[in-house]
Order: sequence, then structure tokens, then C-alpha cells
Amino acid sequence: MEQIEYKTFNLLPEFGTNTYLIWDKISREAFLIDVASPDRSVVDFIRKEGLTLKYLFNTHGHGDHIAGNEMIKNEFDVPLLIHSADADMLLSSDKNLSTYWGQRVLSPAADIKLTGGEEFSLGDTKIMIIHTPGHSQGGISIRIENLVFSGDTLFAGSVGRTDLPGGNMDRLIKSIKEKLFSLPEDTKILPGHGPASTIETEMIENPFAGIAAKL
Ligand SMILES: [Zn+2]
Ligand SMILES: [Zn+2]
Repeated sequence: MEQIEYKTFNLLPEFGTNTYLIWDKISREAFLIDVASPDRSVVDFIRKEGLTLKYLFNTHGHGDHIAGNEMIKNEFDVPLLIHSADADMLLSSDKNLSTYWGQRVLSPAADIKLTGGEEFSLGDTKIMIIHTPGHSQGGISIRIENLVFSGDTLFAGSVGRTDLPGGNMDRLIKSIKEKLFSLPEDTKILPGHGPASTIETEMIENPFAGIAAKL
């Protein structure tokens, strides 16, 4: 019986960043991933549904994934979690690259710095943190039940860019093959941009990391 439900928000249409709200249907506990802008629709939804927000995760520190952190921290008493290697990006618009698209995105500091391998609870269900560097040094994927939120590491039919500071294509492909393609094949992939996929589909068809890449 699946206990977990999620909703995707598009709070930053210029970038198409996916913001995810995930909740446990029984306990009504919830967590957020990558609140992309200070758009209040996600706050209103949490209030309307009567959810208890337990965590705010950032899959990595780029400006298009963190710009709503301050709004969420102002509205809810919730810890902000990001990998330690990307934590400084929250505090510098040069490091989170938003300077380069003419904005100065800043975030409150991390409350908890992750290293990968941590587990958190949402009702009776486990949230697992997987370090998947390559797009940035501190990129993480977040697994719960049969879902994996892959940030800008793995997309449907593509992978994250590796030409930005901290990016490395070999590391990215290694992260995908070793940390994501080892998940059950029916795991649903919910990426930082674009549509959903499955581990099975990407293992076969992904032109960068799948079997198709070798042809
Ligand atoms: Zn990114
Ligand atoms: Zn992104």
C-alpha cells in the first residue's frame, strides 16, 4: 500500500524548475524539495491540506532551486537541509550563479548539512539521502518509497550539465550508474526539470548513461 503522495509545482516558469511537495497520507507529515521561487501557492496548498511540514531539502545549491527557501522558513518552523559541499551556495549569488542571470538570489543558511546516506522519517516511511555529485559537488537525490527525486543529476532522456563550477561529467555518469541505476527498476524518477521517467527507461534509453549511450 502506497502511503506517499506528491504534487509538482512550477514556481519558476523561466527555468522550468520542478518544486515537489511530498506527504504521508496517514500522518499528514510533509517535506519540500527545491522551492524555486517565493510563489505563495505552495504555502497555501500546505495550509489548505493541513500538512505538517517537517523538512525543506535542496537537491543542490543553484539559484533556480533555492529562491523560495526564505519564504518557507518565514512561514513554517522547518529545517533547511542541503549537502555540505553546496551549503555555501545558499549564501552567495555568485556561487549559486544567480548573479549571472541578473538576480541576487540568497537563502537562509542550512540548518543541517548532509553528506549522503542519512535517513529521515515521514510518518512510518523512510526518506533516504543519496549523494549524486557531478552536476555540482553537493548534488543529492532523495528517495522515498518507489520515488527518487534526482535534482539536476538525471533527467528523462538527459543528464544535468557539467560545465558549471563543480561539475564533472565522469563523476555525474558514475553517480547515475552506481547510485541511481542500482535502485529497483520500477522506481519513478522525478527530476529537477522536465517530465518524470523510471529507472528502467533511463537504464535503457538515456543517451548519456543508459545502454543507448554505448551504441
Ligand atoms: Zn542546477
Ligand atoms: Zn536546475
